[in-house]
Amino acid sequence: MSKGLPKRSENYSEWYNELVKRADLAENSAVRGCMVIKPYGYSIWEKMQRALDDMFKETGHTNAYFPLFVPKSLFEAEEKNAEGFAKECAVVTHYRLKNDPENKGKLIVDPNARLEEELVVRPTSEAIIWSTYKNWIQSYRDLPLLINQWANVVRWEMRTRLFLRTAEFLWQEGHTAHATKEEAIAETEQMLDVYATFAEEFMAVPVIRGKKTANERFAGADDTYCIEAMMQDGKALQAGTSHFLGQNFAKAFDVKFSNKENQQAYVWGTSWGVSTRLMGALIMAHSDDEGLVLPPKLAPIQVVIVPIFKGAEQLEAISEKVLPIVKALKKLGISVKFDNSDKQSPGFKFAEYELKGVPVRLAIGARDLANGTVEIARRDTKEKKTYEIEGVVEVIQNLLEEIQENIYNRALSFRTENTLEVDSWDEFVKTLDEKPGFISAHWDGTPETEEKIKELTKATIRCIPLDAKEEEGKCIYTGNPSSRRVIFARAY
Ligand code: AMP
Repeated sequence: MSKGLPKRSENYSEWYNELVKRADLAENSAVRGCMVIKPYGYSIWEKMQRALDDMFKETGHTNAYFPLFVPKSLFEAEEKNAEGFAKECAVVTHYRLKNDPENKGKLIVDPNARLEEELVVRPTSEAIIWSTYKNWIQSYRDLPLLINQWANVVRWEMRTRLFLRTAEFLWQEGHTAHATKEEAIAETEQMLDVYATFAEEFMAVPVIRGKKTANERFAGADDTYCIEAMMQDGKALQAGTSHFLGQNFAKAFDVKFSNKENQQAYVWGTSWGVSTRLMGALIMAHSDDEGLVLPPKLAPIQVVIVPIFKGAEQLEAISEKVLPIVKALKKLGISVKFDNSDKQSPGFKFAEYELKGVPVRLAIGARDLANGTVEIARRDTKEKKTYEIEGVVEVIQNLLEEIQENIYNRALSFRTENTLEVDSWDEFVKTLDEKPGFISAHWDGTPETEEKIKELTKATIRCIPLDAKEEEGKCIYTGNPSSRRVIFARAY
């Protein structure tokens, strides 16, 4: 057997990189900063997509698809958005290659095939979508317009990391248009809530719902809401964002509608997105030194059954007991794999499924057969117990629910233990180094102080929690008055 994973306590970052590769989730590719998502990783992403997509549909959205390329003039139209993304844009300038006359077998860009207008590879699609909405929206009857797209985007990131930050990533982006400001804000908040519910109920990752400070706001938004999660090394990960765009894009693209009084008005917009970064959050929040720990709701294989046998006859006797269980589980919508291959030993299979994070494992051998029992192991606690075969389907069903709940509670306790209220600068600095986690502290509300704190400690304001209580206090750094605490952390 290959040697184990690096330990989280020794090198968290190495542990993560190795785990992503060994669990067959993704790997680096021939293209700098771009990853290959492997079949096992992609099946988890598909489960995420399905659950999210259902939630988008339930809240009235429909899917559509817009082009990958954005003409530069459209990209420039909303100035703040353009300025914010400019430094990480890939740009297409030519549309043809030709044989290099001086270097046989090589190709060069054909200088005669320069595009009249350069095309930006979308880092986000507001520009192309709002230029289209101009044609789709004329009257209040056309509103609200509630559209989502599943797509890839490109941001030329310099420091990349599998899933967490890649140059090309997969995501969904919702883009909505509304008749009133109130309605657009309600939409922004609703979608943040959808993300938080998904993170907590499907990914079993507790999140803080909050607003970003002006410094961290999406370029072109009036307000950015976010969900922030804590990883097992105490670092924060921004797991999703929902933006209130005000009338910024409507004005930039001249998207007006005639209201009920027949007056012309600019529409109000929102956009919201989650990406394959969620895969990183899922891995980092729950997994251990033996491998992945997946929440049952997102596990591609929820139950694996490993027969322990010598020869075809024993396997046949075991299969006879196992097949009805497989059938009953499938009928309940539980995904189950009966791994009856004789190419690997049961011990090898156990380790492999542990690495892959399969929540429940059944093992059944000749002795179990004689006793009418099976051994059930759960991945989250590694606890093993023997059960009567009779009634095992119900046991598994309950166990899957219990595991889902347990890993959520475990992550929540971890976050609680690693969130501290801090009231002095010395304590702030000390806490960041000695007990990494979330720090709830007062801040004077200025971008200058926020920048200074970041420069000195690498900690950023993750968010102003939506449920933050009004509380008189003094800024951790300047001592100036503050009326509520914000969440600071070092982040991915
Ligand atoms: P934004 O459009 O910047 O608000 O980002 C939308 C979503 O994409 C957020 O959930 C981010 O966490 C995620 N995201 C941003 N940049 C990257 C990246 N380079 N790789 C993966 N996910 C990203």
